Amino acid sequence: MIYLDNGATTEMDEKALVRMVYFLKSNYGNPLSQYSIGEEASRAVEAARIQVAQAIGASPSEIYFTSGGSESDNWALTAMANMYQKKRHIITTAIEHPAVINTCKYLEKQGFRVTYLPVSGDGFVDVEALRAALDEETCLVSVMTANNEIGTIQPIEEIADIVRTSGAWFHTDAVQAVGHIPVDVEKMHIDMLSASAHKFGGAKGSGFLYIRKGLDLEPFVHGGGQEHGKRAGTHNVPAIAAMGQAIKDAEKDMSVRMVYERKLRDTLIDRILDEIPGTRLNGSRDDRLPGNVNITFDGIENETMLFRLDAKGICASAGSACSAGAIEPSHVLRAIGLPDSEIRDSVRFTLSYRNTMEDINNTVEALKEICRDLRSR
Ligand SMILES: *Cc1c(COP(=O)(O)O)cnc(C)c1O
Repeated sequence: MIYLDNGATTEMDEKALVRMVYFLKSNYGNPLSQYSIGEEASRAVEAARIQVAQAIGASPSEIYFTSGGSESDNWALTAMANMYQKKRHIITTAIEHPAVINTCKYLEKQGFRVTYLPVSGDGFVDVEALRAALDEETCLVSVMTANNEIGTIQPIEEIADIVRTSGAWFHTDAVQAVGHIPVDVEKMHIDMLSASAHKFGGAKGSGFLYIRKGLDLEPFVHGGGQEHGKRAGTHNVPAIAAMGQAIKDAEKDMSVRMVYERKLRDTLIDRILDEIPGTRLNGSRDDRLPGNVNITFDGIENETMLFRLDAKGICASAGSACSAGAIEPSHVLRAIGLPDSEIRDSVRFTLSYRNTMEDINNTVEALKEICRDLRSR
């Protein structure tokens, strides 16, 4: 198998998996219990909190463990909205993940005004449109750090600066960025940040929300006193311990992994564009996640392409998540101006440091064969 769908989820980091199994099997204690296995579990949760905080330049008390990226996005947006009676305007972008877009749609039904900022053909948020959209009612701006479909990395520092000056709060969905590219909440002036462990070698169903000190968001899960009383429920100790380990390893190896992934990425892009006619790259060529490749193959529907690739043991995706098995036309590709016919012909490959140059070359050969075959019909 050649796994080129790391944007959907990643294989677990080896050391993280060992930590996880230990807390599933050998130590199944509840961190709130008063005996030694409970205390060890509690220490593991707090150690992970420090590891996570260090990775994004936060302090441990600003990290809240959640069930993942979707929950973190839901919490940040709904709790922020509930803080304000009068400031009922939210700004986000047309290319956010459904966890942000659909939360905004929900808030619109609650009477909030939401502006969905347009993006350029490369996928960059229109900064002038942001300036124009901000008004005295704006309580929150949410702009993703890096896009999950086309990999475009936003100028977060510049965007967050504009937001800070306006007096609104700034949230970023950094699920695709954390563990892959440098993220620093201080340097980038981020007030809230969502991340998900299974996108950086941790376990599915775990993640965190960073909430800047002094920003008193309402709780998301009411119950026991876990997570400073803001997110109740017995800690997912195995996954949290694994997340701490995975983020630590990802941070330690980040620069090496980035250089390597970029080399694989650029080879894949260059070879496809050079050797397969009727192909185009979607998203920015330069300010792009090290592992992201998104290509339109003229005249070949992505559903057919994915099926053919799967038959050759290659895992890729149509970019946007499919709902109930059917591939919906991507709202991201639509936002960068692709017509529906080209959206349907686009495929995303997301690479990791585990892939080899042989994987890439074999994928190119497979793509050439599939394109030749389908186009000769
Ligand atoms: C995967 C993803 C999410 C959702 O994270 P989960 O942990 O799977 O809920 C949110 N935003 C982006 C950008 C993602 O890629």
